[in-house]
Amino acid sequence: MRRIDGFIGGKSVKATSGRDGDVFNPNTGEVQAKVGLATIEDVDAAVQAAAKALPGWAATNPQRRARVMFEFKRLVEANMQQLAELLSSEHGKVVADSKGDIQRGLEVIEFACGIPHALKGEYTEGAGPGIDVYSMRQPLGVVAGITPFNFPGMIPMWMFGVAIAVGNTFVLKPSERDPSVPVRLGELFLEAGAAAGLDVTGVLNVVHGDKVAVDAILHHPDVKAVSFVGSSDIAHYIYQVGAANGKRVQAMGGAKNHGIVLPDADMDQVVKDLAGAAFGSAGERCMALPVVVPVGKKTADELRERMIAEIETMKVGISSDPAAQYGPVVNKAHRDKIANYIQMGKDEGAELVVDGRGFRLQGYENGFFIGPSLFDGVKPGMKTYHEEIFGPVLQIVRANTFEEAVELPSKHQYGNGVAIFTRNGRAAREFASKVNVGMVGINVPIPVPVAYHTFGGWKRSAFGDTNQHGMEGLKFWTKVKTVTARWPEGDVGDSSFVIPTMR
Ligand code: NAD
Repeated sequence: MRRIDGFIGGKSVKATSGRDGDVFNPNTGEVQAKVGLATIEDVDAAVQAAAKALPGWAATNPQRRARVMFEFKRLVEANMQQLAELLSSEHGKVVADSKGDIQRGLEVIEFACGIPHALKGEYTEGAGPGIDVYSMRQPLGVVAGITPFNFPGMIPMWMFGVAIAVGNTFVLKPSERDPSVPVRLGELFLEAGAAAGLDVTGVLNVVHGDKVAVDAILHHPDVKAVSFVGSSDIAHYIYQVGAANGKRVQAMGGAKNHGIVLPDADMDQVVKDLAGAAFGSAGERCMALPVVVPVGKKTADELRERMIAEIETMKVGISSDPAAQYGPVVNKAHRDKIANYIQMGKDEGAELVVDGRGFRLQGYENGFFIGPSLFDGVKPGMKTYHEEIFGPVLQIVRANTFEEAVELPSKHQYGNGVAIFTRNGRAAREFASKVNVGMVGINVPIPVPVAYHTFGGWKRSAFGDTNQHGMEGLKFWTKVKTVTARWPEGDVGDSSFVIPTMR
């Protein structure tokens, strides 16, 4: 059986726990590899490797660090097909979507290539007599990222792209469910350093594991910051424990994004957008659109009928099938969880218009497939509305008025993304301003901001106060030092016992 090991100090390193995790082929349901799960000591070895690399890397000038990023981008692009196939084979998302996963991460690497410009500090000449004030951004030291299964390419790159470019060294603890792509990224980063004429051994380390490894990171005195993306309860835990241990923490959690459809929306576009945003990647996206809120009965009835027709045309297949729109979910436990939510929705009194639970793919009967499901008559009090399902399930929640529709995402426990579909600019503008959610799409179903902007939700979708990538990412991964320098003319004055002011 294939084994997946960590990548520490530029070398493949086996975990010493003797404990393994199963990595499935979600298309067949078979275990295709075993991943060794780290002990506290294994995590410490990764932190030590990063600590060893830190002085040299932090002292490397920003342009040379950026050149490694340029080389890394080139190498990831050159390996795109292989990486996407590997990602798809462990995650289950189709290959085209896997390329999108990697490409969105690469866009953060592109941002990181321009980091010397963004890293410049501030300067005030003549803040007082002979006094200049300037600030600089310095790396934090050894930092860590803990990532979820659903974007094994993009989310690690969100984190280490910026963290490393600003001079930190990094320990990545990716999801143990699809751990191969993060290891390849570690290997390619080492190669990128060599191509740029630098030894970057230990700058990016990958350690696999579960709660044991995560807790080891959270309690390690040499880890200065932790970035986490995953489900909300764990995000909250990471935030609390990391902060209690004196670390800087950002922890992104779950989501339940709503799409508001006003009566004047372009319904052809809405149906196509919703199909992709609700069912793409089998709904395993934190920026999926699993709730649609049509305003008014006419809009709701039309949307429902057209979604049923759209679902009938949908093709679910194995992840390597180029004709498939989405593939299996990540494992059996997750498939069963989604199926349980569908049953719960029925039991709660919502109308199950399309039931995806019976879907079977010939020749792949043991794969973790689930067909698209559609609910109508979903109400805010229902558990299946309140909680994240993270599967190919679209819920229609009917609203009578614009105000009622806007209130729904604003009052929901999650506040990651939201979208409005309308031709009315004034309504869209008011919506964007008032809605209590972190990322808003106007006729854009999946409003993941571009890399030089910043990604982050509100409420239980994120703990901490700094977002991923863009200038917010740069702020998270650096600390500011401010220097006040005086070069007085003439004699030294008398000592002053009064706090200096700028009067
Ligand atoms: P998860 O919370 O199960 O796992 C995330 C990470 O936490 C993994 O590395 C895992 O090994 C680790 N982990 C799991 N259990 C742990 C525990 N008890 N203690 C400490 N660490 C633990 O999430 P997942 O299932 O891999 O990913 C899906 C979730 O991530 C969804 O809720 C989705 O909405 C969310 N997500 C959020 C964003 C965002 O930016 N807000 C982006 C992608 C995914």
